[in-house]
Order: sequence, then structure tokens, then C-alpha cells
Amino acid sequence: MILDRTADWHTHSSLTDGADTWEDMAAAASMAGLHTLGASDHVRRETSWLPEYVAQIRALDRRVDLRVMCGVEAKILDSSGRLDIPAAAPPLDYVLVADHQFPAADGPQHPSAVRARIEADPATARDVVDTLVTAICKAVALSPAPAVVAHLFSIVPKVGLGEDAISDEHVHALAAACVAAGAAVEINEKWRCPGAAVVQGLVDRGVRIVAGSDAHRAGDVGRWVYLDELESRILP
Ligand SMILES: [Zn+2]
Ligand SMILES: [Zn+2]
Repeated sequence: MILDRTADWHTHSSLTDGADTWEDMAAAASMAGLHTLGASDHVRRETSWLPEYVAQIRALDRRVDLRVMCGVEAKILDSSGRLDIPAAAPPLDYVLVADHQFPAADGPQHPSAVRARIEADPATARDVVDTLVTAICKAVALSPAPAVVAHLFSIVPKVGLGEDAISDEHVHALAAACVAAGAAVEINEKWRCPGAAVVQGLVDRGVRIVAGSDAHRAGDVGRWVYLDELESRILP
């Protein structure tokens, strides 16, 4: 698998739910031997600090000896692929498109509600996965900046399913949408996903794969434990 291990695309600071400042995160990234740090704090539609955040990250990029990319992480709101991001976002280097909630037709649903539905009627599992994959495909196309699919299928175990619920057609649709939109898919350390079969299916179809620690503290930036395990199982 061709993947740049010197770039960490998924990190959070104390501006949102992380423990350390962007200054500390950049210093840790240098210490870890990274060439690129992707800043990706959480946003919502009503987030008002985006212009200041972008200015802060751009200034940091000029000051430090590694590249600091300015991204955000936004959840997929519904099955049409709408993202939880301010309508007038300033220019960003990328958007992490995240499956934090289940993107139902009428808006985000808590995974436990979806899990209860599947337990009551296992035949709905197929619809759930279809809706999720369709929403991700639409979200990467709608993203206001180049999309990176964050922790792909992290929601699947939360709704009580395994990655075996993801069919080859799902992977095919996802790969086609990513290639068409110029989107990448992240291998996520925190959630240890996606699994080897999905990654292999995406790689085989030409999808660009990137690494993300999902670090919420400086010590976790650029630490690749799951990535090491996965790479030993994936064809080059
Ligand atoms: Zn996330
Ligand atoms: Zn995150």
C-alpha cells in the first residue's frame, strides 16, 4: 500500500475537544518526524470561529518547519450527504467527512437507535448500510473542499454490525465516488478502521489512502500502530 506515513491528516486541539494547543501539536508532529500535520478541529453549522481558526493555522504553517494543512472535521447530517459545516466556510485545504451519527433521510440518528431497529428486524441491516454508503458518496461530492473520508465505517460496529455487512458493491460505489470527487479515505488509528478487506478493495480501485491518528493530545500525533498491523496484511 502506497501511503505517506509522514503526514497525519486527523488531529484535534484544545480549541475543540483536544488537550493541547496547535503550537504543541505542531511541535509533537516535528518530534514524530512528520513533514505534514493536518489540523482538523470539529465544526458544526453554527460554528462562528472558523475565520480565526483558519488564520491561526495559516500563521502556524508559516512559523514552523513542517507543513500545517488547514482542515476541519464535519459529520454527515443526512442521507443526502449534507455536512455539518458553516455555509460560508473560508477556504480550507480539506474536510474530514465523518460518520459520527447515522445519516438518515430526516437527519442524524444516534447509532443506538439504529442498532435497536436492526435488532428488532435484522432484514433492515442491508438498508442501513445502503443508506450509509450512499450518504458518504454524496457527502464527498458536496464537500466545499477536497474530502477525506474520516474513520470510514466506524459507525458500523456501533449499530451492531460487522464489516462483513459491507458488500463488494458498496466498496465499488464508494471507490467510484471518491475517485470522481478526488477524495481520499483515511486509515484511522483511534477507531482502528476501516478493516483490511475494505482498504484492499479501495486500493485496488485507485482510491488514495491517507493516515490519521485522530490524536486528541500531542503524544498521539503520528503514532501508527493500527496502520502497521494493516500494512502487513495489505498487498503493496
Ligand atoms: Zn470523528
Ligand atoms: Zn476526529
